[in-house]
Amino acid sequence: MILSGGCLCALVRYRILNTPGPLIYCHCSQCRKAQGAGFAANVPVPRANFEVTKGADCIKAYQSSKDKTRYFCAKCSSPLYSYLREASNYRIRAGSLDDGPELSPSAHIFVASKANWVTLNDDLPQFSEKEPRQP
Ligand SMILES: [Zn+2]
Ligand SMILES: [Zn+2]
Repeated sequence: MILSGGCLCALVRYRILNTPGPLIYCHCSQCRKAQGAGFAANVPVPRANFEVTKGADCIKAYQSSKDKTRYFCAKCSSPLYSYLREASNYRIRAGSLDDGPELSPSAHIFVASKANWVTLNDDLPQFSEKEPRQP
């Protein structure tokens, strides 16, 4: 399955060349600020499977912490993905995908920083900080 997505103004467009990994809801305070939302919905995509098809020169980067960089459209400011230094994946912001593809959510992370006005009433595992390391 090839998924496509892009920013609000459509200057930036991208493709994902396989089915992305399970979606993770991140409630950390940085993600909340960066999305202007209660949490971020992120899907891990191996770097080799992510391709910017249009507007690569319009993507701006913001280094939000020592190891983490967040990428967004320079014109409309839509968050697109983040990258943790030396990771094999990008974390694509699921809301930037076209057509709301079926993705399976797997966990809530950084729940210790969750906004008080967000209520979690699903059965997904919750972690107070990072998700435990994948084997
Ligand atoms: Zn844009
Ligand atoms: Zn986060």
